[in-house]
Amino acid sequence: MYMCPICNGFAKVNTICPSCNTEMDEKGRLIEQLGDYAPYLDNEGMKLFDGDSTSKTNHTCVHVFTCPTCEIEQVKSIEEVII
Ligand SMILES: [Zn+2]
Ligand SMILES: [Zn+2]
Repeated sequence: MYMCPICNGFAKVNTICPSCNTEMDEKGRLIEQLGDYAPYLDNEGMKLFDGDSTSKTNHTCVHVFTCPTCEIEQVKSIEEVII
């Protein structure tokens, strides 16, 4: 089965802030940040809510990262890995 390495805690993704080159903090999944407002915006939401076969083949988990220095936010699709 496919699992997100960050959600499951067995890998760390280093994301570097594009404006100051500081390592960014991982803030959790985008779907959790959005809550009820826009569950259909990313692939994870599609997988959960519409049962569409094309979205199921796209094994990514979207995470939010913020820079501790300049506080910009970045969204990154994390590729899920087969366990
Ligand atoms: Zn994840
Ligand atoms: Zn920064």
